[in-house]
Order: sequence, then structure tokens, then C-alpha cells
Amino acid sequence: MKTDVVIIGAGLSGLRIAQQLHAAGIDVKVLDSRKRVGGRIHSKHIANDFGEGGLDMGPSWFWPWQKRMMALMQELDLEAGIYEQYSDGLSVAEYRNGQLLKQAGIASMAGSLRLKGGLKTLVDALSSRLASDDIQLDTQVTAVAMVDDGVDVSYRHNGELNTIVASHVVLAAPPRVIAQTIQFSPAWDANNQDLMNHTPTWMAGQAKFSASYAKPFWREQGLSGDGVSEIGPLGEIHDASSASGAPYALFGFVGVPASARGGRGEDIKEAAIEQLTRMFGSEAASPTAIFYKDWAEDNLTATDSDRAGPRAHAHQTVTTEPHWNQSLYWAGSETASTSSGDNGYLEGALDAAERVVEQITSKLAV
Ligand SMILES: Cc1cc2nc3c(=O)[nH]c(=O)nc-3n(C[C@H](O)[C@H](O)[C@H](O)COP(=O)(O)OP(=O)(O)OC[C@H]3O[C@@H](n4cnc5c(N)ncnc54)[C@H](O)[C@@H]3O)c2cc1C
Repeated sequence: MKTDVVIIGAGLSGLRIAQQLHAAGIDVKVLDSRKRVGGRIHSKHIANDFGEGGLDMGPSWFWPWQKRMMALMQELDLEAGIYEQYSDGLSVAEYRNGQLLKQAGIASMAGSLRLKGGLKTLVDALSSRLASDDIQLDTQVTAVAMVDDGVDVSYRHNGELNTIVASHVVLAAPPRVIAQTIQFSPAWDANNQDLMNHTPTWMAGQAKFSASYAKPFWREQGLSGDGVSEIGPLGEIHDASSASGAPYALFGFVGVPASARGGRGEDIKEAAIEQLTRMFGSEAASPTAIFYKDWAEDNLTATDSDRAGPRAHAHQTVTTEPHWNQSLYWAGSETASTSSGDNGYLEGALDAAERVVEQITSKLAV
């Protein structure tokens, strides 16, 4: 099989590239190892007697000054679903000695924006702009090789090994994951290999916990749902309720380091409910649903370096010039310009996509 462009990774960056190239009449094929699109964007759908919504277990927030995110929402007709992070009321701080302090301002994400149904709504809207066979899921790319008439991309799907020949290949995944999962021929030189291995993947070592509730009992007590704790397991907590309110929810980033979390998901979930009950009252003990996602255990996002290392935005990124006679391109949020401060964020995924679309369309126009 032959195609113009193969994009490895169906996260926000890869999907945005695919949507724009497809709109320009260029044949694209997006391959992803996962059985779903979105990569780090991962919203759990909840529907119950109290309403329907999506709980974001990966990213939740974007900001009004992020011009690419705001423009994409408009382009995809999603503006009506944008709502502000709930932050009215007091925050709760839990100290090591068990003392609880209610005050304004701590851990507030006031002004940040969320999307109705979770950010899955965004990647679903992007995917819907592509032809149904433009995206192939459950497809692990294992090797990328420069050949006379383009680039061979070898992948495993349904237990079978196959190859597609493409004129252009885009690596739209964290550089560390690419380095660990794909064999390149010719191999990267030592400098590029080092850059790939030393580019941290934003939030890869994190875990998130969410609990959905029938009522917003914290709001009824004048609390915003924001909280910080020195005891944990949740280090930082926020309201995660849906656009219209119900289903109501709280979520927290797990403060326990990745190295101490492995295999302890059940204990962490139980301890998180106990913590929410200490901080927000007895009604927190009875969630209607709970979700836990440890990204450090997800080998398509995190590597050993992310599990061990401190949380860091990419301070060093792979060179973003095209490689292999302009047939191999780097996208993904970690490859966005470090000077913009967007690298690692959703906005960075779009920044990198914009660069690659320009690089490929200008090459094809020659
Ligand atoms: C817990 C958490 C919270 C976050 N919060 C925020 C936030 O609030 N705001 C914000 O702006 N950003 C946030 N981020 C960061 C944000 O999620 C990322 O910037 C963005 O989603 C990255 O998109 P991407 O397309 O670059 O990469 P990814 O979403 O990582 O997509 C890469 C894809 O490549 C696939 N892949 C990898 N290797 C292969 C292979 N060999 N073969 C086939 N497929 C492969 C993977 O399966 C994956 O689907 C958060 C991240 C996490 C984990």
C-alpha cells in the first residue's frame, strides 16, 4: 500500500495534521497503537440519572490566550461547549497535622476553560473531518526505514506485520516513546538519539483520580472544590463537574510519586475517597462513580525516565527541521517551540502541527 503521508500518533497533534492535510486533498493515514483516538486526551463518559458528561483523565484545561486552541474550537463549531473552570468559594488546605483551613485562592484554576463532554469532544470532532479509513487504530508502528521511493512504515495490526510506503512520515508522539518503540533505518545519530531520550514528556509521570456525585455538596457549603493536601494521596483537587453542573465531580492529581504507586491503584482510590471525605464532608464518601488513570503505567505515554524523573516541560527537544531529505518530520507537543512556553500543552500540540503542515504542504507544492 502507498500513501502521501503516514502520521504516527492519533493524539491532538497527529489528528490536527491529518485533518488539515486531508482538507488540502493530500492522502493521509494515521496509525495509533491504542484502540481509541486522543492519546493523552482521554475523557470517561458518564451518564446517569443526574446528567451526562465527560470526565477528563488526561488534560482538562485550556486558556483564553491560547490562540490556536481558541481558533480550533471556533473552526470545529465547539465554542458553545466551552465553559469556565468552577472556582467560586473557598479552597480547603489539609496540613500534615490534620488541620483543615478554608480560605480563598489556594490552588485556584479560575479563568481556565473546559469543554463540554470533556476534551474527547475535540478529538472526536477532528476525527469526524477525516475519511473513516484514514485512521487505523490498534496499530503499533515498529519500524521506519528510508527506501528509494519514500519511507517504509512497518506496523503490527491484528497480530500481522504489514508495511505502508509513504512519501512523508510524521512522528506525532513523545520523542522518548518513539525512541523506545520504533526502529529507524538509517539509525539516528548519537546527538539526535540523545535529544529524543532527554526530552521529558509533559505529565507522563502523573496519575489522576475523579469521583462523580449526585449533588455538588461542596458548592452548597460555599467551597469551590479546590484543595491542597500535605497528607494525600491527592496533592491538588478541583471541581470537575460538567458544563451544566450535573454530573457533578471532583478530581485530584495523585501526589504519590510514580515509583511508589505501581500496582497500588485500589489502595489509592480508597484513600482518595477517605481524603475527600475529610476535606469536603461525609457526602464525599458516596460517589456515584470513580475513575483512576495512572499515566506512568501507560507505555504509550511514559518511559522509565518519565517515571523516575521530576515533572518537567521539554527543556530540550529534537530538532524540528525535516530529516531524511525532507521525508521525516517531528510533531507532538514536546516538539513545539520551547520559547513559546506552549511545549507540553495542548496548544503546543497544535503549534507543532502547524509547523509540520507548513513543511509538508510547501514540499508538496514544489
Ligand atoms: C494527566 C495529564 C494532564 C494534562 N493536563 C493538561 C492540561 O490541563 N492542559 C494542557 O494544555 N495540557 C495538559 N496535558 C498535556 C496534553 O495532554 C498534551 O500536550 C497533549 O495531549 C499531547 O498531544 P500529542 O498529540 O502531542 O501526543 P499524545 O497525546 O501523547 O499522542 C501520541 C500518540 O502516539 C501514539 N503512539 C506512540 N508510539 C506509537 C507507535 N510506535 N505506534 C503507533 N502509535 C504510537 C500513542 O498511543 C498516542 O496516542 C496533560 C497531560 C496529562 C497526561
